Formats: sequence, structure tokens, C-alpha cells
Amino acid sequence: MTIPHFEQGPIRPPSEAYSLLLRVTRNCPWNRCEFCHTYKEEKFSVRTVDEVKQDIDVVQEIVSEIRALSWKHGFGGELPVPLVNLILQDPKHDSDGFRSVAFWLYNGGNNVFLQDGDNLTLRTDELVEILKYLKKTFSSVERVTTYARAKTVSRKTVDDLQALRLAGLSRIHIGLETGYDSLLQYVKKGVTALEHIEAGRRVKESGISLSEYVILGLGGKGMWREHAVETAKVLNQINPNFIRVRTLKVLKTMLLFQKIEKGEFMLMSDNEMIEEERLLIEHLEGITSTFVSDHIMNVLQEVEGKLPEEKEKMLNLIDRYLSLPKEEKDNFRLGRRVGIYQSVEDLSKPELRNQVERVIQQIESKRPGDLEEILSELTESFI
Ligand code: SF4
Repeated sequence: MTIPHFEQGPIRPPSEAYSLLLRVTRNCPWNRCEFCHTYKEEKFSVRTVDEVKQDIDVVQEIVSEIRALSWKHGFGGELPVPLVNLILQDPKHDSDGFRSVAFWLYNGGNNVFLQDGDNLTLRTDELVEILKYLKKTFSSVERVTTYARAKTVSRKTVDDLQALRLAGLSRIHIGLETGYDSLLQYVKKGVTALEHIEAGRRVKESGISLSEYVILGLGGKGMWREHAVETAKVLNQINPNFIRVRTLKVLKTMLLFQKIEKGEFMLMSDNEMIEEERLLIEHLEGITSTFVSDHIMNVLQEVEGKLPEEKEKMLNLIDRYLSLPKEEKDNFRLGRRVGIYQSVEDLSKPELRNQVERVIQQIESKRPGDLEEILSELTESFI
């Protein structure tokens, strides 16, 4: 039996964990950002409308097969946990595509994320055709989202973007990273703060929901203040629906690593990045965005809320953490990185603390004095 196959790319935003991943382009047309390694060595290409439609057909074929299995096993076309387990255990269904469609259906089959890095490079009419075909094939689909570069978005008119919205595009995720022009140049983002503002405003005007991503720590010890303040200024002018933060982690494969080796770029500590996050939030003014910290790399994932009403709450959470003694902060960071703590509140739960203390004892007996290195290794495993 041939296992039906459709193409999927390497990444998605954390908020798309339950979405069907459908590849419209391959890799990134820019591919020069010094903090990004996702598509390094890979060439950008645009898939044809027919190729993407064929993939949608394959997904539909898999959906029909899963529904038939459900009827066969007495689940009436539904996808409850026992059927998901059956699918996962059956070597006949040992394909990423089959499993991801089962997982998608199990989670409602409502959301689709279009991969890879910059799908607005397609002509508007082509993307409209794909979106319409997707919505026609799956009536359950409510939200369709994509990544796009601000530079590419700024080449689309509001009419283009509205046409995409009407065809079913619900949200665009843009990597703002920073609003500080010198830093945008330094990390070779290939876009200016002004272009970010223009692109973001255009998305908002079209009625498509907008997520702007900011990288905590991107300014390093040298530019952190400017990074936080200038980023807030850009966000204040865009007023995106979502501001999402993620924490910088530099791998050896990233070009930024060479700047660290030369002593030109100095990484910030976790605690310094939290101070930077505070400065960023403090300067967010006059906007109604939702601040989200859903990336696993972030130390304080609980710093989330709707602006402006929850700004003080977020600042207070950060202040609470920053006021902890060093040992408590270390205890928390380790507990977070090994997945024991979810929030600072958890520090007061004896059963969780005991677990973290045991991990600390193990570290002290096996690699005394290596806590920072171990924390760094743990974060590396997240990306
Ligand atoms: S534009 Fe996005 S995907 Fe492309 S290199 Fe930069 S960060 Fe990576």
C-alpha cells in the first residue's frame, strides 16, 4: 500500500501547534538574518498552485481514510483518544503526514498554518486560489495563518491583503525582532523600522489579524536599552493584535555566533533579558495589543496580558521575579527549564520545590559549578 504523502516544512509558530501544516513555499527568500538558522543551506522556492492543491487533496484522502477507520472501529466517524492511539501504534500509519492529519483532526481540524517563511511572495491571485481551494475542501477550517516578511507585505496593497482576507487568510505572523534600525542592520534583517510600521499598518487596515514577534536579548549587552525602547515605539505605531516575545538563543550554526566569538556581541543573562522585557512593556503606550509569551525559551511565560489594562499586572509579575534573591532565581530558572515550574507562583509549592532541589543536588554531585552551562544546554534542546 502506498502511503499518501504531502509536503511539510520545518517550523511553525508556537500558537500553531494544533494546526495542519501546509507548505506553500520552501524555505526563506531572504535567509540572511544572523540570528536564524532554520533555512540555512536551503534554497528558497515557490511551489506551484497545482502542487499545493494536490497536497490539499492528499490531506483530504487521509481525512477520509481516518474517518473510515473510525467507522470500522465503532467510533461513528469521530476521533477519540483510543482511535488516535490505535493510529499511532499501527506501523501501517507510520508516516508523518498521516499522524499529523490525525493529530489535526483530534484537535478539531479548525486551523491551518501555511509554511514556510514568506508566502506573500506568491502573486495575490495565486494565494487566493490556494486559500479558496483549502476552504472549499475543508469546511471545518476557521483560521488560516502564515508567516510573511514585512518587506514583502509592504509590496502588497491594502486591496491585495483584503482579497487574501476574503479568500480566508486570517492572520499574518511577522518577525519584527526589533524596532531599532541600527540593530536591524546589525543582524541583517533586511528591513527598516519604517517598513515594519508601513507593513504592519497595512495588514491591520486590511482586517487581517497581525502577530509581531520580538526577540528578547537581540540587542545584547550593548544595545538592549535602545532595542527595548525603539521596539516599543514601532509597536505603538502599529498596534498589532498580538505582540509575541521569544528569547534569543545563539547556536554555533548562526552567523551571530561569529560576532560573539570576536567579542563584538555580548549575550545577556536570563535576568538581564527579563529587565529588558520590563523596559519594553513599560514603553508600550496607547495600544490595545495582547502581549503573549508562548515560546518555550522564555523564562517568564506567565507575563501575558491585554494592553493597556493588564500592563501593571505584567510589570508586577516581572518585578516580583526580579526582587527574588539570586538562589531563588536560579532555582526558578532551572525548574522552568526542566519543565517542573510553570510560573513564579510554583516556587511556593513544596512538592515542586523538592523535585527541583533533587535536580540541583544531582547537578552539584555530577557537575559542580556548572549550573549556567547546564541551563544553556537545556535551552539549546528547545530549538
Ligand atoms: S526572514 Fe525570517 S526565516 Fe528568513 S532568515 Fe530572517 S528570521 Fe529567518
